Amino acid sequence: MSDLLTLAYEATTPTPWRALPTKWDGREVEWGGFSTFAFQTTLRLHARTECCERCGTLDPPTMAQGSMYALPGQPVDVWATTRSGKPYLRARTVDEGERVRMLGRLTASRCTRCGLDTVIDRDGDMWTLDESDYGPEGSFRHG
Ligand SMILES: [Zn+2]
Repeated sequence: MSDLLTLAYEATTPTPWRALPTKWDGREVEWGGFSTFAFQTTLRLHARTECCERCGTLDPPTMAQGSMYALPGQPVDVWATTRSGKPYLRARTVDEGERVRMLGRLTASRCTRCGLDTVIDRDGDMWTLDESDYGPEGSFRHG
């Protein structure tokens, strides 16, 4: 009986809130709030498959969108790849003083049971975050 109570308690205890990475590949990211219902787009389907890869829950994740900014004073080239795999310069942005242009959007998906975060970038690449991604330097493309 006590085991059942413990299980029930664990299942209903909210995962401690944790801030998403403040940087992405060195660039500042501003995240919006988490919401379970705000993103009824295909992004959600891409961001999560059938269940959480860590705890296996089928509960829908909570999601947040982030805006990525250039570092002040730095020109930024945004590269993309054609369908045939050829890289091309998609955009070049330059900081104009006070204003820093948005480079791209990120969508974070957080498991409501175990707190596992995954992030999908504008190119559709998905990243599962680990401990190193929450440090002061944020998340870097590695491994
Ligand atoms: Zn999970």
